[in-house]
Amino acid sequence: MYQSFIGLEVHIHLLTKTKVFCGCRSAFGDEPNTNVCPVCMGYPGVLPSLNIEAMRMGCMVARALNCRIPEKTWFERKQYFYPDMPKNYQISQFASPLGQEGWVELEGKTKNSGGEEIPIKKKVRIKECHLEEDAGKMIHTGTVSLLDYNRAGVSLLEIVTEPDMETGEEAELFIQQLRRTVRYLGVCDGNMEEGSLRADANVSINFEGKGLGKKVEIKNLNSSRFVKLSLNYEIARQGVMLDTGREVIQETRLWNENRDETAPMRTKENAQDYRYFPEPDLPVFTPDAAFLKSVEDSLVELPQARQKRLETGYGISPEQSGLICEEKSQADYFETAVAEAEKRGSGRKNAAQKIANWLLQDIKHILVREGIGLDDLALNPRRLAVLVSLAASGSISGKNAKQTLEAVIAENREPEEIIRERGWERLSDPAQIAEALDTVFTAESKTVAELRELAAAEENRGIVKRRQTLRAYLVGKVIAATGGRADPAIAGEQLSRKLV
Ligand code: ADP
Ligand code: ZN
Ligand code: MG
Repeated sequence: MYQSFIGLEVHIHLLTKTKVFCGCRSAFGDEPNTNVCPVCMGYPGVLPSLNIEAMRMGCMVARALNCRIPEKTWFERKQYFYPDMPKNYQISQFASPLGQEGWVELEGKTKNSGGEEIPIKKKVRIKECHLEEDAGKMIHTGTVSLLDYNRAGVSLLEIVTEPDMETGEEAELFIQQLRRTVRYLGVCDGNMEEGSLRADANVSINFEGKGLGKKVEIKNLNSSRFVKLSLNYEIARQGVMLDTGREVIQETRLWNENRDETAPMRTKENAQDYRYFPEPDLPVFTPDAAFLKSVEDSLVELPQARQKRLETGYGISPEQSGLICEEKSQADYFETAVAEAEKRGSGRKNAAQKIANWLLQDIKHILVREGIGLDDLALNPRRLAVLVSLAASGSISGKNAKQTLEAVIAENREPEEIIRERGWERLSDPAQIAEALDTVFTAESKTVAELRELAAAEENRGIVKRRQTLRAYLVGKVIAATGGRADPAIAGEQLSRKLV
């Protein structure tokens, strides 16, 4: 059959405060044409100057993608005309981009058409990472087109892969992993709807062993799902072309999300001639030791490595670890909470399991319900650790622990204080439990009578089971009678004694 080849070009907006070659504010959603100056508006005779923070962030991404940072890196002018680019050239990098020849390990799972899980594990080579300026934005409304130059000159890093991927699923995973990575590094917010991360996907197919085919480029994909869908659509479309003896045309296509298909945009038979030449107004950049050190110092443990470390170090499942490591702040929260629980005498793996469960279920539920993030939560990692430790030692029932969780969040107070005030500590005073048991015996006299009969009956599986059910029912009643506080072990013990 056919072999498919996919290479991605991903553009990310770097989170620099100002644009890449001028001092204008770099922000999304501001009033149109308010963050502009002669430099980014392309007035004649103005001088660009490099925002070193953009270079540093770009190099951080390059290093995270295992790229080599060259001894010298510089900028070129890429010439073409477009109304959203007032200089008629874009300052970009061509001959010596800031990051070269890297790789990433794709690792994850996908489902095939039958719903069966299949693993993805593959190395994808990174051709380069280069720094450039973004263009402005054109807004087409009826008969007029409007131009907003706020985005013109915003720091853009382009990451180009070699054509090492083969399926839409792999490309989707690449985008997801890259998104997580740049968010961990804090250099891009990864917001695909706002265009902070967008991708062009290149794909060709050919007869097995014949090498690359004629490339089709799908432009401006703003969601990882569209990357997957459009690529799989293209692979199928090109397959039909070859099946029927037709030729695939080298062209640029667009994804139509309403019709779930790609459509031609323009043919691109030959590589366009951009007449690149070195930007004369910017000096060659030579990263010195101090610069390189600042890049290395800004790197953090990356999501994939962290996911593996949490899995082995804390004994949580790969799924839990994957979910926790989705966001750096969540992984930080998790590790801090476990450390706090350990300080309070909980075993690491035990605490980790409970904290993971709470984080991924109850707490997540509350965050969604309240529409807030972990950082805004009154339940900080220490408070969660206190709760988990109290529940683990049996000082509080599981049910009351959850109530306390809600109360801590609603009232922004210490869990111990709330538990004391509401009297939610576990009740282990035998006299009080005995009193509750008396009440239950009176109210549930029929059940008690049945249990006593069963005690005299001949042992068999049915009887043992029935006895267990009735006992659990009565213990439950005792716990309920004490506001959920009675220690179930003591209640059970007293019940046994009282029955004979
Ligand atoms: P161009 O000069 O047209 O921009 P590049 O060589 O820079 O082409 O590659 C752009 C992207 O297209 C890269 O991600 C690369 O991996 C991918 N690519 C190049 N040729 C092919 C092909 N024949 N099939 C699939 N992807 C390709
Ligand atoms: Zn400007
Ligand atoms: Mg290219």
